[in-house]
Amino acid sequence: DFDREIKVVVLGNGGVGKTSMIRRFCKGIFTDEYKKTIGVDFLEKAQFVDALQEEVRFMLWDTAGQEEFDAITRTYYRGAGAAVIAFSTTDLDSFKAVQSWREKINAECGDIAMCLVQNKVDLIDRAVVTPEEVEALARQLGLKLYRTCVKENINVTEVFGYLAELHHKK
Ligand code: GDP
Repeated sequence: DFDREIKVVVLGNGGVGKTSMIRRFCKGIFTDEYKKTIGVDFLEKAQFVDALQEEVRFMLWDTAGQEEFDAITRTYYRGAGAAVIAFSTTDLDSFKAVQSWREKINAECGDIAMCLVQNKVDLIDRAVVTPEEVEALARQLGLKLYRTCVKENINVTEVFGYLAELHHKK
């Protein structure tokens, strides 16, 4: 069933936790350090989505730290049905870059299902943005906000469930 298959891209500056999020969701593991493969990597995961009462096959693409190379990102974005735009609680540049990631995905894929993810909420005492600033940005961009901790597996499944539901509605 093609309807129940969705390619999801995870965007955001280097270091925000994109690879960790993909591995957490698809493999159920978290590691602090591991070697990234060069180029575009992808993982697959079948997950029952409560809101749809159906199993969805997620295909997750990771740029593996090659965010800045256009030739790679073209392949990366092609056919994407949904996107996670992520930033880190402890990295102001990654927060400031959210708008440009949004513009990039819109330019490549149009108006696909998206949400905003604030990752590393376990590091909230080192936060470089206030909750109000984050909520204001989400509102301004018209994106639902999820606060995640990939490390402790908080809210990760919810992000992908939401995207599948939103994609289905579009
Ligand atoms: P990417 O460059 O966006 O793919 O980011 P990575 O997945 O490589 O993660 C960058 C670093 O952040 C790694 O050391 C991860 O272990 C760490 N990291 C990812 N998610 C979390 C989290 O929720 N909390 C904490 N404390 N560290 C995290």
